[in-house]
Amino acid sequence: MSYKIMPKSALNDWVQHLRQKFTIVAPKPKHGQFVFGEVTDASEFALDYPSTVLPPKKYLVPTQEELLSYSLDGSHFEMRTEPVPTVVLGVHTCDLHGIKLLDRIFSQGYTDTHYKTRRNSLYLVSYECFEPCTEHSFCRSMGTLSATDTFDLHIINLGEDFAFEIGTQKGESLLEGFQSIFNVTEVDIERINTVHQEKWQRFPYRLDFDVTELAELLTNSYTSTYWDELGDICLGCGMCTQVCPTCYCFDIHDEVDLTLDGGHRVRTWDSCQIRMFATVAGGHNFRAEQAARQRHRFMRKGKYQEDAYGLVGCTGCGRCAQACLVDITPVKTFNELYKRRNNIAEKETEAK
Ligand code: SF4
Ligand code: SF4
Repeated sequence: MSYKIMPKSALNDWVQHLRQKFTIVAPKPKHGQFVFGEVTDASEFALDYPSTVLPPKKYLVPTQEELLSYSLDGSHFEMRTEPVPTVVLGVHTCDLHGIKLLDRIFSQGYTDTHYKTRRNSLYLVSYECFEPCTEHSFCRSMGTLSATDTFDLHIINLGEDFAFEIGTQKGESLLEGFQSIFNVTEVDIERINTVHQEKWQRFPYRLDFDVTELAELLTNSYTSTYWDELGDICLGCGMCTQVCPTCYCFDIHDEVDLTLDGGHRVRTWDSCQIRMFATVAGGHNFRAEQAARQRHRFMRKGKYQEDAYGLVGCTGCGRCAQACLVDITPVKTFNELYKRRNNIAEKETEAK
């Protein structure tokens, strides 16, 4: 683990230094919220920000992406990908976890070339969180409150200075040639350790059980009537999946040119919460009930993705809870399932 120190006053100079080679994106205020967007000056963004509306996933899996172009006579077929070298500043540790999971999903078995090309062009500069983003955040319960890997550089706010933890050679290259970067002293290391130790008490555990029990809890709750209760109130709007850093379901369609000479194949975001998602040939819908769609969503978050990729599918970012108009949240859902399972277990013990 190696660290460097930069005075905060040098932040804008560093941004200008990076702009010589990279597009810079960072959390910008917009309509009372924060969104990741392109910046040209340090005054345009904040590193101490609550959660962004969409996670930085949008730079890896855009909402709409042209995959290839072709001619209808079959003489031309070309993959479309033109990634721009981009530095993402201020990525929260929960969103790092989301990208780590996406890295596995898009490279395990079949490698998604478009994802990989974009990922190789992305430089992740994460930022240590010292306060929960919102009342819905439960990153501590999900084990995503610290940065262990995935970042290229990780910034720790030390008051007058920023400490940079260097995660990769890509990260190191972002500091090369910049003058206001210094080696750490013993005192700096003590400051880093102190701020790390002090932050934990500000983040409450919000699940009533340990995250390692989540997959089994969901397995045991597969037939719970709670899914019907969620299905009764869920609007099927899909907002929860649109804002989620670990949802990646997509649709693919062809757009044929008006001249009928050629066309483009386009990938767009989709949502398992929308009725049409599971409609297949003959009009059959293999997940026709909203209750089944809610169950599928939470099973993916707490069990299926962990089974398939070895990482829990929920980062605890709280975005879905913030976005849901009927107050369906992972914390309430998981805790309610836990309570009901314990009640059933108690009754079974009493009956013996
Ligand atoms: S399920 Fe909700 S809390 Fe979990 S990662 Fe997705 S948006 Fe965040
Ligand atoms: S945001 Fe809420 S209402 Fe909309 S689909 Fe998700 S859980 Fe249902």
